[in-house]
Amino acid sequence: MGEITEKIIWHKCKKCGKLQYPEHLRCLTCKNKEFEEIEAPSEAILLTYTILTAPPKEYRNKESYALGIVEFPNGIRALGQITSEKNLKIGMKLKTEYAEICADLDGKAVRTFVFKPIS
Ligand SMILES: [Zn+2]
Repeated sequence: MGEITEKIIWHKCKKCGKLQYPEHLRCLTCKNKEFEEIEAPSEAILLTYTILTAPPKEYRNKESYALGIVEFPNGIRALGQITSEKNLKIGMKLKTEYAEICADLDGKAVRTFVFKPIS
Protein backbone atom coordinates (compact mmCIF):
# COMPACT_ATOMS: atom_id res chain seq x y z
CA MET A 1 0.00 0.00 0.00
CA GLY A 2 3.04 2.27 0.08
CA GLU A 3 4.10 4.66 2.75
CA ILE A 4 1.68 6.24 5.17
CA THR A 5 1.35 9.96 4.71
CA GLU A 6 -0.91 12.49 6.28
CA LYS A 7 -1.80 14.33 3.12
CA ILE A 8 -1.38 13.94 -0.57
CA ILE A 9 1.45 16.27 -1.46
CA TRP A 10 2.42 16.94 -5.02
CA HIS A 11 5.88 18.11 -5.91
CA LYS A 12 5.97 20.89 -8.42
CA CYS A 13 9.24 21.35 -10.28
CA LYS A 14 10.57 24.85 -9.67
CA LYS A 15 12.09 24.93 -13.13
CA CYS A 16 9.53 23.53 -15.56
CA GLY A 17 6.41 23.35 -13.38
CA LYS A 18 5.75 19.64 -13.81
CA LEU A 19 3.72 18.12 -10.97
CA GLN A 20 4.94 14.80 -9.66
CA TYR A 21 3.28 12.25 -7.45
CA PRO A 22 4.58 10.12 -5.89
CA GLU A 23 7.74 12.02 -5.16
CA HIS A 24 10.87 11.54 -7.26
CA LEU A 25 14.35 12.77 -6.52
CA ARG A 26 14.60 14.58 -9.83
CA CYS A 27 12.03 16.06 -12.17
CA LEU A 28 11.14 13.42 -14.75
CA THR A 29 11.00 16.08 -17.43
CA CYS A 30 13.97 18.37 -16.83
CA LYS A 31 16.04 16.58 -14.11
CA ASN A 32 15.81 19.58 -11.78
CA LYS A 33 16.03 18.72 -8.06
CA GLU A 34 14.11 21.61 -6.53
CA PHE A 35 10.42 21.29 -5.85
CA GLU A 36 7.60 23.21 -4.31
CA GLU A 37 5.11 21.23 -2.22
CA ILE A 38 1.48 21.55 -3.19
CA GLU A 39 -1.36 19.99 -1.29
CA ALA A 40 -3.75 18.06 -3.53
CA PRO A 41 -7.34 19.31 -3.77
CA SER A 42 -9.88 17.42 -1.68
CA GLU A 43 -11.99 16.04 -4.52
CA ALA A 44 -11.11 13.30 -6.96
CA ILE A 45 -12.83 10.79 -9.23
CA LEU A 46 -12.77 7.04 -8.68
CA LEU A 47 -10.90 5.34 -11.53
CA THR A 48 -10.87 1.79 -10.28
CA TYR A 49 -11.07 -0.12 -7.02
CA THR A 50 -10.74 -3.52 -5.50
CA ILE A 51 -12.07 -5.12 -2.32
CA LEU A 52 -9.32 -6.75 -0.29
CA THR A 53 -10.62 -9.66 1.73
CA ALA A 54 -7.43 -10.60 3.57
CA PRO A 55 -6.32 -7.37 5.25
CA PRO A 56 -3.05 -7.24 7.19
CA LYS A 57 -3.14 -8.13 10.91
CA GLU A 58 -3.42 -4.47 11.83
CA TYR A 59 -7.02 -4.47 10.59
CA ARG A 60 -8.12 -6.82 13.40
CA ASN A 61 -11.80 -6.15 13.29
CA LYS A 62 -12.20 -5.69 9.56
CA GLU A 63 -12.79 -8.60 7.26
CA SER A 64 -12.24 -6.57 4.16
CA TYR A 65 -11.69 -3.09 2.90
CA ALA A 66 -11.73 -1.20 -0.37
CA LEU A 67 -8.61 0.12 -2.05
CA GLY A 68 -8.96 2.49 -4.94
CA ILE A 69 -7.13 4.58 -7.48
CA VAL A 70 -8.47 8.08 -7.82
CA GLU A 71 -7.75 10.79 -10.36
CA PHE A 72 -7.59 14.48 -9.55
CA PRO A 73 -8.81 17.12 -12.03
CA ASN A 74 -5.26 17.67 -13.32
CA GLY A 75 -4.86 13.98 -14.16
CA ILE A 76 -2.65 13.01 -11.22
CA ARG A 77 -3.59 9.69 -9.68
CA ALA A 78 -3.29 8.36 -6.14
CA LEU A 79 -3.81 5.02 -4.43
CA GLY A 80 -5.62 4.80 -1.12
CA GLN A 81 -8.20 3.19 1.07
CA ILE A 82 -11.87 4.02 0.47
CA THR A 83 -14.04 4.47 3.56
CA SER A 84 -16.93 2.40 2.19
CA GLU A 85 -17.09 -0.86 0.27
CA LYS A 86 -20.68 -0.42 -0.78
CA ASN A 87 -22.19 1.42 -3.72
CA LEU A 88 -18.83 2.24 -5.26
CA LYS A 89 -19.02 3.30 -8.88
CA ILE A 90 -16.29 4.08 -11.36
CA GLY A 91 -16.37 7.80 -12.03
CA MET A 92 -17.98 8.76 -8.72
CA LYS A 93 -16.66 11.68 -6.71
CA LEU A 94 -14.60 11.08 -3.61
CA LYS A 95 -13.36 13.43 -0.95
CA THR A 96 -9.90 13.11 0.56
CA GLU A 97 -9.92 12.85 4.34
CA TYR A 98 -7.32 12.27 7.01
CA ALA A 99 -8.48 9.42 9.21
CA GLU A 100 -7.54 6.61 11.51
CA ILE A 101 -7.58 3.43 9.42
CA CYS A 102 -6.47 0.88 11.99
CA ALA A 103 -4.17 0.40 14.96
CA ASP A 104 -0.70 -1.07 14.64
CA LEU A 105 0.25 -4.25 16.49
CA ASP A 106 1.18 -2.20 19.57
CA GLY A 107 -2.28 -0.67 19.58
CA LYS A 108 -1.19 2.72 18.27
CA ALA A 109 -3.54 4.43 15.87
CA VAL A 110 -2.46 4.49 12.24
CA ARG A 111 -3.65 7.57 10.38
CA THR A 112 -3.42 8.36 6.74
CA PHE A 113 -5.45 9.89 3.97
CA VAL A 114 -8.50 7.98 2.79
CA PHE A 115 -11.15 8.57 0.14
CA LYS A 116 -14.75 9.03 1.14
CA PRO A 117 -17.57 8.73 -1.42
CA ILE A 118 -19.58 11.95 -1.78
CA SER A 119 -23.25 11.13 -1.93
ZN1 LIG B 1 11.18 20.05 -14.30
